[in-house]
Amino acid sequence: MPELPDLVYIVERLRPALLGRRIVDASVGNPTVLRILVPGDFRELLAGDTFRTLERRGPFLRFSLDRHDLVMHLMLAGRVRVVPAGEKPLAARRFALDLEDGTRFEYGDEKNMGKVYLCEPGRFEAIPGFLTQGVDLTGPDFDREVFHRLIAKERRQARVFLMDQTKLSAVGNAYADEILFSARIHPKAPCSRLSPHEKDAFYTAIREVLAWGISEVAEAGKPTEEKVRDHMRVRNRAGSPCPVCGTTIRKAGVLGFDSFFCPGCQKPKTEQFIDWSR
Ligand SMILES: [Zn+2]
Repeated sequence: MPELPDLVYIVERLRPALLGRRIVDASVGNPTVLRILVPGDFRELLAGDTFRTLERRGPFLRFSLDRHDLVMHLMLAGRVRVVPAGEKPLAARRFALDLEDGTRFEYGDEKNMGKVYLCEPGRFEAIPGFLTQGVDLTGPDFDREVFHRLIAKERRQARVFLMDQTKLSAVGNAYADEILFSARIHPKAPCSRLSPHEKDAFYTAIREVLAWGISEVAEAGKPTEEKVRDHMRVRNRAGSPCPVCGTTIRKAGVLGFDSFFCPGCQKPKTEQFIDWSR
């Protein structure tokens, strides 16, 4: 659920609330999400430790403390926030860290699909997907040339390529749909069938749609535990008219994931698709 623009916002909001603050106590409700990769008890390991840095790496949040790293992958339903310790607990709270200034860091997760790793500083080998992330899509390394190199030998469907985090770090379902819509590329179009112009549009759309998402989420200014999706143009809008051409937005499965697109703006490249005009 939290995607790259949401995580950018969470990092910006949590940094001033956490960095330099010492943890005085920790409590665990349901430990399903916890992966403790060092010997010891979660509470004892964290009490007395201080938050030093917070960085995003693809879909992961990495909190560096003096003695440990805390790495989170929020998956579908993980939520985090920092509030005064007296507040009503976050729904489906899995653990909480009490800070010296009287605030509390909380992690909630209705689906228990998120993962929270506690490891020695810099020891990320045991965290699936952490070290294999591809180029950061918001960073300076992701330029047009790098994108063209990545897509050059690619034969998979555009949406599958776009969501391959070992190549592009990292796009989730909602922004994948928005990026392809903006680029006017059908989600199932094989990358090998895209023209140079379409590949260029693909790159531009990744940059522009993510920047747009980041600014929309920042502007909404919601609490960090709430998701912001009102600005979506095709995601979860099946049956509504396309905001560009008026064609009805459709939903299709791409490798088991729901994908939303406009059949008018995003024409298929092969004959294996349902002909919506019939
Ligand atoms: Zn359209």
